[in-house]
Amino acid sequence: MFIGHFAVGLGARRFDKAPSLAMMFIAVQLLDLIWPVLVLLGIETLRLDVGNTKMTPLDFNYYPYSHSLLMAIVWGVLLGFVYYLFTKNRKGSVLLGLLVFSHWILDFLTHRPDLPLSPFNDTKFGLGLWNHPILESVIEIGLFLVGTFWYFQSAKPVRKTASWSLIVFLLITHIMNLIGPPPPSGEMVAWVAMLIWIFVAWAWWVEKK
Ligand SMILES: [Zn+2]
Repeated sequence: MFIGHFAVGLGARRFDKAPSLAMMFIAVQLLDLIWPVLVLLGIETLRLDVGNTKMTPLDFNYYPYSHSLLMAIVWGVLLGFVYYLFTKNRKGSVLLGLLVFSHWILDFLTHRPDLPLSPFNDTKFGLGLWNHPILESVIEIGLFLVGTFWYFQSAKPVRKTASWSLIVFLLITHIMNLIGPPPPSGEMVAWVAMLIWIFVAWAWWVEKK
């Protein structure tokens, strides 16, 4: 899942106007923002394995601190709590916590059973939609269309060009991920994953007063 996560961040604008789109993006992608740091530190690992599922050549063989069910809840509570400390916005902080957790749910739909229950045991989950490319794409693109529609309906961003180019760039990145050649190394994947921050910065620019 790539744009599926961003779709949830865009669509969330419909439910609360307070957290910025950049904040929504940080929330929906928090697990994937933590993950590359842990990979580069050698705490979590991945392996290149072409054919691991039909849609990804990556084998997420060890990522319990960023992607276990337990830690997804912990990261969600933490982000919600920090946001509450700074803003005293209860509704917004609950929403952001739920957005963090939504990442796990979407990964659960798409990954093969590689998402751990917690860092303390070996039970793993995943429905494996990545082995059903058409169904996966219909769901993910569908989510993105709904999220985009809800965003523009509720937010009416001032920077029209910046906001629409963000949508287009997300779509292009998604397609490149699918049709591009497999990455040369796991480390490279982690570095590329850091580029999610570009979308966060872009979202911030779109809504900057
Ligand atoms: Zn993820």
